[in-house]
Amino acid sequence: MQPIPEDWTRAVAVVAHPDDLEYGVASAVARWTGQGKRVAYVLATRGEAGIAGMDPGRTGLLRVEEERRSAAVVGVSEVEFLSHEDGLVEYGLPLRRDLATVFRRLQPEVVITQSFDLTWGEDGPVNHADHRAVGLAVLDACRDAANEWVFPEAGPPSTGIRDAYVAAVANPTHFVDVTATMDAGIASLREHRAYIDGLGREFDPDEFLRNIAGYTGLGAGCEYAVAFHRYPMG
Ligand SMILES: [Zn+2]
Repeated sequence: MQPIPEDWTRAVAVVAHPDDLEYGVASAVARWTGQGKRVAYVLATRGEAGIAGMDPGRTGLLRVEEERRSAAVVGVSEVEFLSHEDGLVEYGLPLRRDLATVFRRLQPEVVITQSFDLTWGEDGPVNHADHRAVGLAVLDACRDAANEWVFPEAGPPSTGIRDAYVAAVANPTHFVDVTATMDAGIASLREHRAYIDGLGREFDPDEFLRNIAGYTGLGAGCEYAVAFHRYPMG
């Protein structure tokens, strides 16, 4: 693994649900915003189907607020929700159009998203259908956004996307040293209080995130790291 180059100023991180970025990526975001970079969050859904026993209308409102607080902890104030239906996100042209529209407006150089692998690891559980749809659509929308003849109604093309980085994959190529920002990443996940309470089991964000980042750090040569697979777009 190589360190992710940090000679850029503008990133957009796109995931399916409130909390997806907080399961690791937020520690890297804290490092980048600490360097003065601008990072925006885009959520395909409001996570309204994410808490058992709680009405989706109420859950959606709660989780939007939790996501905004989580983002603020790591220096992110731009948080957008695309309002696709939680649990029912489809890979397809409507999602690609929505994402291309966002990329053309925000003009990122770097795009971050989540794993679209079928499973977590080789014999782990099946990755959520929403994650698979969003991760793959993000990569395709990077190309869509740069092509003036694709979705011409979505504004002038964005030609500045250099790389997309996909988190939590089985075959990482790059890492971010988050040793100095682990605490911020953990505090960011802790903001998802209603969600964590709704899990109905003991869950310690500190232990969970340190275990993963510590293991990744062993391969990266630092105490804590977050790993990504890079897809060059330039
Ligand atoms: Zn999710």
